[in-house]
Amino acid sequence: MWKEIPLQQPGRWPQGVRLPIIISVHHQSEEAAVVLPDGQPDPFDYSERQYGGRRGAWRLLEILQRHDVRGTWIICGATVEKYPQISLNVLRAGHAIAGHTYEHEMMCNYPPDQELRLIRKTVSVFQDILGVKLRGWRTCFASHNTVDLLLEYFDFEWDASIWNDDLPYMIEGYGRRLLEIPFSSYSDAAWAIQITNPMPPTPYGTWHSNTPEFMLRTLKAQFDALYERSAERAVLMPLTVHDFIVGRPSRSSVLDQFIAYAKEYEGVVFATHDEVRNWWLGNYESGEAVAQDGRN
Ligand SMILES: [Zn+2]
Repeated sequence: MWKEIPLQQPGRWPQGVRLPIIISVHHQSEEAAVVLPDGQPDPFDYSERQYGGRRGAWRLLEILQRHDVRGTWIICGATVEKYPQISLNVLRAGHAIAGHTYEHEMMCNYPPDQELRLIRKTVSVFQDILGVKLRGWRTCFASHNTVDLLLEYFDFEWDASIWNDDLPYMIEGYGRRLLEIPFSSYSDAAWAIQITNPMPPTPYGTWHSNTPEFMLRTLKAQFDALYERSAERAVLMPLTVHDFIVGRPSRSSVLDQFIAYAKEYEGVVFATHDEVRNWWLGNYESGEAVAQDGRN
């Protein structure tokens, strides 16, 4: 079990940082492909997602480099094994990386011992192939045990598997502390594709796309609202892009245009989860605890 550590002062960012934007690139390619009743992956869905490892991730890396911004690459263990060169280039470019389960398992369907085994397996892939000790973690479909397992058995510095807040918060349990940096429902699933049921529309379908104009307008609206609020309170803009979705040409162009738009505003900083974690820790260092309704 774990508990939340209340903020010791109203949360704020360091001097000069008005609105941090964390771009999370989910580099998972075909790992979450839909499986048909016969146990085989849906070939349409599989190959559509495989675009992520073959093309999409490279295109996203190129766009971030062109803008000289760094983000966090959230990578499945199996994806590192299949496409190691992408992860090596990501590291060389100075991005942060985090683990994203082994084969994008829906951990909410797994018992704790299997989830623990899969997290361990993923951690060793990063160590063995990239020589990296993971500091951060995200499970897209977290279980009720995910956070407990991370605290009990690992020494991650942050987790970003939960959707329940706008701002980071500290949790403590099993003798460890972990900063939860929630992600958001205006991820690319919300702005790049039309949500259908089932998602994706398979078997034998493809991912329907919203128009680029809609996507850009949605992102700008999120940004404008947060930027206005950031004049008075700490806010954070998480932005999730998947290699196989936003890596496509017209969608990646929206990301390109959005970064250019946001960079024009004073105090906007594109940051990694590692940086945001270090900044937010400063909020726990001194002062009086604030009441729950005094939170940002
Ligand atoms: Zn994912």
